[in-house]
Amino acid sequence: MSKIRVLPEALANKIAAGEVVERPASVVKELLENSLDAGAVSLEVDVESGGRRFIRIQDDGEGMTPDDALLAFERHATSKLQRADDLMEIATLGFRGEALPSIASVSRLLLETRHESRESGTSVEISGARLAGVKEIARSRGTTLTVRDLFFNVPARKKFLRSDSTELGHIVNFVTQYALAHPEGRFVLRSAGSEVFNLQPVPLQRERVFQVFGGALLKQLVEVQSEVPVFRTGDDGSEESGCSEHIRVHGFVSKPEVHKLNRNSLYFFVNRRMVRDRIILHALNEAYRNILPGGIFPVVLLFVEMPLGEVDVNVHPSKTEVRFRHQALLHDFLRDSVRKALMEARPQSPFPAARHTQSALVENPFDAPPTGELAFPGVVPRSFLGPVVVPVEDRSLTLTPPTPAPSNARLPFQSENALTIAGSPSTGATPSESVSTSSNAVAVPALSTSTVTMPAGAPETGEAGEPVLVAQSQFGIVPLGQIDNSFIVAADGGALLLIDQHVAHERILFEKVLVQRSEGKVESQRLLLPLIIEINPRQQVILENITPELAACGFEVEPFGRKTVAIKAAPAGLATVDVEQLLGELLEGLERETQVISLAKLRERIAASVACHAAIKVNMHLDQAKMVWLIDELQKTQYPMSCPHGRPIVLRYERNEILKAFKRI
Ligand code: ADP
Ligand code: MG
Repeated sequence: MSKIRVLPEALANKIAAGEVVERPASVVKELLENSLDAGAVSLEVDVESGGRRFIRIQDDGEGMTPDDALLAFERHATSKLQRADDLMEIATLGFRGEALPSIASVSRLLLETRHESRESGTSVEISGARLAGVKEIARSRGTTLTVRDLFFNVPARKKFLRSDSTELGHIVNFVTQYALAHPEGRFVLRSAGSEVFNLQPVPLQRERVFQVFGGALLKQLVEVQSEVPVFRTGDDGSEESGCSEHIRVHGFVSKPEVHKLNRNSLYFFVNRRMVRDRIILHALNEAYRNILPGGIFPVVLLFVEMPLGEVDVNVHPSKTEVRFRHQALLHDFLRDSVRKALMEARPQSPFPAARHTQSALVENPFDAPPTGELAFPGVVPRSFLGPVVVPVEDRSLTLTPPTPAPSNARLPFQSENALTIAGSPSTGATPSESVSTSSNAVAVPALSTSTVTMPAGAPETGEAGEPVLVAQSQFGIVPLGQIDNSFIVAADGGALLLIDQHVAHERILFEKVLVQRSEGKVESQRLLLPLIIEINPRQQVILENITPELAACGFEVEPFGRKTVAIKAAPAGLATVDVEQLLGELLEGLERETQVISLAKLRERIAASVACHAAIKVNMHLDQAKMVWLIDELQKTQYPMSCPHGRPIVLRYERNEILKAFKRI
């Protein structure tokens, strides 16, 4: 007997209608859902040309009888709904009975299937909604659907498709999502014959996250697990006591130090269906309030399980929007569960933690050294930790006094032209400078002055006490000092300038990198040890596409294992930590792109990233000579006033503005 029925019109009309086939990824999504609904545990997806030319999904599900194999292509033919009431409690991913006929009407489709109860299978061939052949075939249990030449008969649709790699990116996303929701399944994705991933079944969600994203990310995640009872309210609004069920959530959220620039790493599943939902997003926002800055997103994988009647999935044809029966309850429950998990995983502040480490070690008899001494190699002696706790107020006292030194009494405010300072003496390495260097080390321990990579042409400060004669830039701008070791204060005779040292250097490097790139003369450096970084499958696809351009920009990147790449060389001037961060950010930025970006744009993106990471940082002391060098180089750039990301570099206060502020005019 066939299991598929054509829905009566009245019921069909109750279903959220709409086009399901928008792009190759929507075909993959619908077919994967069908396979999962059929109980498949092995799902293999093959695509070519981003799915435009070829999509094949093979499963080991229950399969279809010959009758069903034909019925499945009727509109509103489904085995998943019988009565209108069923719409209230949908347990399957599909229920609309529209996917197969819709796909068959815009492609050349081949269905091969064998029901578990039958000896032989059936193949059905359809081309643009026309039945082209039905045959009896021999095959294993399960179903294989092959979709060729998508939109061959709808040229308008075809025109709207993006590049192959963008379309493939969407497909990777969908397969990844279903793989995350079904760790018990085997998911293989191949593009043009080469494996994007091959995930074997694993017993734990955690292991699937590891397979997809790698261990580095897993370490940054905190586990969430809780449940809340819901009471079913009867139609009259009264609570049916004793009828308690639960809403459960489990999954992972990232620690506060993980900063994502886009929402791509937010995965929500409701009863194993991937959803995009406002309520859940809001609950998350609330959970991370005051933990993450605005515009920054965490990594979240949340699996919510709830009674079927608690959620209406018949809201939108794509089935990714849902409506919850108890919205407020769910919102607060998720917010509190995530918040609680984050609080429990909260680290102690670094200094008290170090102190606790010592006492904890003594308290634990197994860890106590035989001598009872506290000098473990891993424990930093207190004396070294001292400066780390200098309170912010104290630290500010050790900031560099502006150079030129205030002792130059002739300089300030003698005349209206006081700001026209010609050739102020440099302090060289004064005692105040050495103090500030150490305060610098306290504030940002990772940044020693030696990480500043000024080009060979940049003049160095003279030996202690030796005056450096060049103190004014070629353009008549005199640097006076730094504010907070981050902003250069300078005067150019007619105006006061505040220069953001990091973005200034970024602009200089950005233009330099672009020039070097166009001349094919990028300076590259081999890394001592190849840097191994983990990337997700979507990023893998992106990386493959941009590898030639990366190579031309001085990066040598090679696949290394399934989820990892090895970086063997990088543009000169980048520290190893920066190389890793740079590539991560670059890939994340490209992941966010919904449109194809031109090669020129890509080149600029890479140059901007290299510049940003190689540039001197804020919170870094610069001596007079370096400030002069920076100002000169900035003046020589094409756009000295704004950085590659559009932020201002120089704030300029004209003499008139200053006079006005002093009420002199
Ligand atoms: P829906 O999934 O909404 O029911 P579809 O058009 O996607 O509608 O599929 C129609 C029917 O075809 C399904 O209800 C199911 O019975 C059958 N079917 C589709 N794909 C498979 C598959 N891979 N294995 C077994 N049966 C399938
Ligand atoms: Mg379906």
